[in-house]
Amino acid sequence: MPLTYKDYYEILGVPKTATAKEIKTAYRKLARKWHPDVNPTKKKEAEEKFKEIAEAYEVLNDPDKRKRYDTLGPNWQQQAQNYGSRGGYQPGGDGVHVEYADFGDDEGGFSDFFRTFFSDFSARGAGNPTSRSSRRGIRGNDAEYGIELNLRDAYSGGARQLTVQTQARCPQCNGTGTVQGKLCHECRGTGTINVTKTLDVTIPRGIRDGQRIRLAGQGGLGFGGGPSGDLYLVVHIAHDPLFERQGDDLYEDHPVSVYSLVLGGETTVPTLTGKIDMKVPASSQNGRVLRIPGKGMPKLRGEGHGDLYVKLVAELPAKPNEKERELWAQLAQLAKAR
Ligand SMILES: [Zn+2]
Repeated sequence: MPLTYKDYYEILGVPKTATAKEIKTAYRKLARKWHPDVNPTKKKEAEEKFKEIAEAYEVLNDPDKRKRYDTLGPNWQQQAQNYGSRGGYQPGGDGVHVEYADFGDDEGGFSDFFRTFFSDFSARGAGNPTSRSSRRGIRGNDAEYGIELNLRDAYSGGARQLTVQTQARCPQCNGTGTVQGKLCHECRGTGTINVTKTLDVTIPRGIRDGQRIRLAGQGGLGFGGGPSGDLYLVVHIAHDPLFERQGDDLYEDHPVSVYSLVLGGETTVPTLTGKIDMKVPASSQNGRVLRIPGKGMPKLRGEGHGDLYVKLVAELPAKPNEKERELWAQLAQLAKAR
C-alpha cells in the first residue's frame, strides 16, 4: 500500500517557519472548529479532520518529531533507504531510522503515514514521559511463535515453561539508540535487543492443532509509552504414532487375533490414560470399529471427553504348523459345504 506523504504544515495552515506558538494557536483554532461535538451534522467528516489536525500537531509540536519530519521531507522513503540497509541513520548519527512496521488498523488513531514515519521514534526515548505522544503511545506489534506439542501434552494441558526469542529495550542506551551522541553498539541504534525469555504458559486441555494461545503484553515493545503487543503461540500438535485425532475423538487401529474375532474374547487396548480391557464380540468382522465412550480428547469447550474408536485388525497366524494347517483345511472344507 503506497503511503501518501502528509503535509502537516498545510493541514494546520501555517508556514514552514512557524514558531511553536503559532503552531499551537493554529491547532487550537482548527481543533475547536472541527471538534466532532460541534459538528453534529457532518460528524464523520469532522472526525477525520479532527484526527488529521491532531496528528499534524503531534508532529509539529514535538521538536524531535518536527526535526525528523523536516529533515526527511516529502522524499522520506527514498531518504530513509539512502541511510543504509538496516533502515538508515541520519547524517550526524542521531540514530533516526525508518522501519515499515506492521500496525493493526485500529491502533493509535493516526494515519499509516504517521505510524511508518515515526514507528520506531518514541521507543528511542525522543518523547518525554509527559508528552502527548507518551500518553497516546503506539502499541507494539503482535508476535507469533510456534510451539510443538504432542497429543499427550494436548490431552493433559497445564502449566509449561517456554523459552522464546523476543525483543527487549536495549539496556545500554535505554532504548534511545544512542549513547552520548553516538550510535549504541549494543543494539546498533535500533533501541532493542534480542533476548531469550522464559514464559509460563497454561496449555488449555484439549487444544487443537493450529490454535493460538494469546499471551497479553508479551509481543513487540510499544512505542512512546504505548503498551506492548501480544504474543500468540501457534500450536502445532505432532503426529501420534498410535492415535489419529478428529475433533475431540480419537481413532486407533488395534490388532486382534482371528480367533477372538471369530469366537469373541478379551483384548487390552492402549488409551491416552493407560491400558483398558475391552470385550471383542464374537463374529466380529475384520475392521470392525468399537466405540469406547469418554476415552477421547478433553473437550476444549464444555465438559467431558470425546470418544475413542478402536478398529479391530485381524491378526492371522504367521506360520501355521502342520496340525494347524490341517485344521484350517478342514475349516475351508466346512465353509465350502455351507
Ligand atoms: Zn542500545
